[in-house]
Amino acid sequence: DRLTRTSADDIERAAEAALRPRSLDEFVGQHVVRDQLSLVLQAALGRGTPPDHVLLSGPPGLGKTTLAMIIAAELGTSLRVTSGPAIQHAGDLAAVLSSLDEGEVLFIDEIHRLARPAEELLYVAMEDFRVDVVVGKGAGASAIPLSLPRFTTVGATTRAGLLPAPLRDRFGFTAHLDFYSADELERVLLRSAGLLGTALDAEAASEIASRSRGTPRIANRLLRRVRDWAQVRGDGSLDLRAAQAALEVYEVDALGLDRLDRSVLEALCVRFGGGPVGLTTLAVTVGEEPETVETVAEPYLVREGLVGRTPRGRVATPAAWAHLGLVPPSAGGT
Ligand code: ADP
Repeated sequence: DRLTRTSADDIERAAEAALRPRSLDEFVGQHVVRDQLSLVLQAALGRGTPPDHVLLSGPPGLGKTTLAMIIAAELGTSLRVTSGPAIQHAGDLAAVLSSLDEGEVLFIDEIHRLARPAEELLYVAMEDFRVDVVVGKGAGASAIPLSLPRFTTVGATTRAGLLPAPLRDRFGFTAHLDFYSADELERVLLRSAGLLGTALDAEAASEIASRSRGTPRIANRLLRRVRDWAQVRGDGSLDLRAAQAALEVYEVDALGLDRLDRSVLEALCVRFGGGPVGLTTLAVTVGEEPETVETVAEPYLVREGLVGRTPRGRVATPAAWAHLGLVPPSAGGT
């Protein structure tokens, strides 16, 4: 997937990289995870051995990659990066593993998308620091064990539940990242504005934070759009007027819902009369994979009380109808 990425994405990535916290102290929010992780890392440093493998789960943009980088930095080691979809064959993973240096951190993004043979190779490697290299074919094939340096895997997934138990069990430390509060996002924004060399006023910070979908990545992206607006159409200051005007240009609604969120809500209300509707049907209607709807759009919609999950499927809540400016059928019809 590295090769097909568009240049617009590259620019976003570079902009994002510049704003990444470099240490646990700079990492905003997620107190419990930070505290637990800090203990794991300090203990490992004290013992002089690599820490347990770490599994980070949670929706996109909440800081999983950032934490992986911080883990390597705090351990004073380097980070090697790959992802589930980038590894097609067990052999690809064997090559990555055998190139690791002692104590390095291997970050595997979207680890739930590793192919089964790679997964099996990985959990043996994580447990025994060994890979079995198969030489020859058919009846004459034999496995030669190759020992690996001690390393730490940091796996990231939008859905820990999708990981098979044998792999999940190899992670000594598992953390779930949750959406950020508006206060925390304000802190992210003020820090980012500082790094960008601009002054963000408090009202503007709170306006952007409340429309960032609980997600630091989105907060930082909106901040850059507000800065663009201020530069081109405003007087350069990042104040409430600039924030509101930019958010309007980019069609960010009052709750910060994005295109996918809104199409899920609209499909649920307009097409299915508020539900209940099954995840797969809903996903087909909005033209997305069920996994994307379930892991990217739904967690925030549920958390905002717009969508409910019932045994018979997804349902729109009264708040969903209100947000779309529609009247639910039971309240008199439209
Ligand atoms: P994920 O890997 O979960 O999709 P990232 O780690 O890439 O998310 O985070 C996206 C962006 O959000 C990063 O560039 C970083 O600048 C910002 N970010 C994420 N978490 C935090 C945080 N806790 N404090 C400050 N900035 C954060």
